[in-house]
Amino acid sequence: MTTIEQFNEHVMGSYGRYDLVLEKGEGRTATDEDGKQYTDFGSGIGTNSLGYCNDKWVEAVCAQAHSIQHTSNYYYTKVQADFAKTLCEATGYDKMFFGNSGAEANECAIKIARKYSFDKYGADAERNIIVTLENSFHGRTMGTLSATGQDVFHNYFFPFLPGFVNAKANDIDDLKNVLAQNKGKVCAVMFEFVQGEGGVVPLTKEFVNAIFEECAKDDILTIADEVQTGVGRTGTLLTCEQYGVKPDITTLAKGLAGGIPIGVCLADKKCSGVLTPGTHGSTFGGNPIACAGGNAVLATVLEDGFTKSIREKGEYFRKKLAEIPEVEGVDGLGLMIGVRLKSKKAGDIAKACLEKGLLILTAKTKLRFLPPLNISYEEIDRGMAILAEILK
Ligand SMILES: *Cc1c(COP(=O)(O)O)cnc(C)c1O
Repeated sequence: MTTIEQFNEHVMGSYGRYDLVLEKGEGRTATDEDGKQYTDFGSGIGTNSLGYCNDKWVEAVCAQAHSIQHTSNYYYTKVQADFAKTLCEATGYDKMFFGNSGAEANECAIKIARKYSFDKYGADAERNIIVTLENSFHGRTMGTLSATGQDVFHNYFFPFLPGFVNAKANDIDDLKNVLAQNKGKVCAVMFEFVQGEGGVVPLTKEFVNAIFEECAKDDILTIADEVQTGVGRTGTLLTCEQYGVKPDITTLAKGLAGGIPIGVCLADKKCSGVLTPGTHGSTFGGNPIACAGGNAVLATVLEDGFTKSIREKGEYFRKKLAEIPEVEGVDGLGLMIGVRLKSKKAGDIAKACLEKGLLILTAKTKLRFLPPLNISYEEIDRGMAILAEILK
């Protein structure tokens, strides 16, 4: 029996997978069971931010596994305290909460927003609506699925959680209308600066400014879901820096611990005290091994010049892509890249790339690249040569 047959016999079929069994990785190259190598433009889904088995990361993770792997949240560890200090100081947030995934980070944000309003305005005010954007993606738990603004996700699992209302992304009038229709009932607006799963769609600066202006008028919290865009991915530690705004809450996950499950919810002073003892928790949240991996990632991303190198590599990708006739246009920021094709189907291209030794992602009708943040120019050239050949 092959690995794939064995796997499918025992694992639920909730994913469409490629016929590829990966065995190991080094740098930005993965190797399958037969020894075939693949250049990686996907990093999992933006998760292996330092590539495969980065030396410093492996050392930090192994050292932590040798010292203490879990303590429960009844006790403290230094590795968690160090991680939280580094992240809060680097991002300018007051405090953070530890979870294990993007969805969990967003659940925490949703709970903070609702309790912030509950505490301040009382239960009778029913000030609990969270406005999210059409075409957004916030996760797969019942709460975050309800928050997600795509009808395709709102099926089968009825009833969904009430209290989420959608506004059109990049449509200021629609945002204002939705807020006016729900006046006095909205506790937060939640958004991705660049919609990832929605097809690498950046919000305009004007629209983001409008969110912040409207929210400021009515004490509505702003929640940035930077689960995919955060931790250097778009060329700054947080993407909000490029928009010149500071959300009340920011969530991070994917690339934060270099491939180990983690999710954090960062909160500003205004709402960092909302979660009091007993109001929220997660058994695995703040796992010391994850924090050790996170410390290695943060140490790298915060090195002088590292985020600048991400922006430069992003530019290099764009220049290379512009030379391919089949490429209609390129969207995204930094090393979060969506490629519009003229006539070819993204799914077919991703499959063909895999055949030729290149791992890429798709998002809606686009090709999507989320390469490891420390990818080299040589590796970009290697992958782009494969892609250019296939798109000929
Ligand atoms: C991936 C993603 C999530 C969900 O993260 P999980 O770790 O799969 O729960 C939420 N928001 C955004 C923007 C994402 O890209």
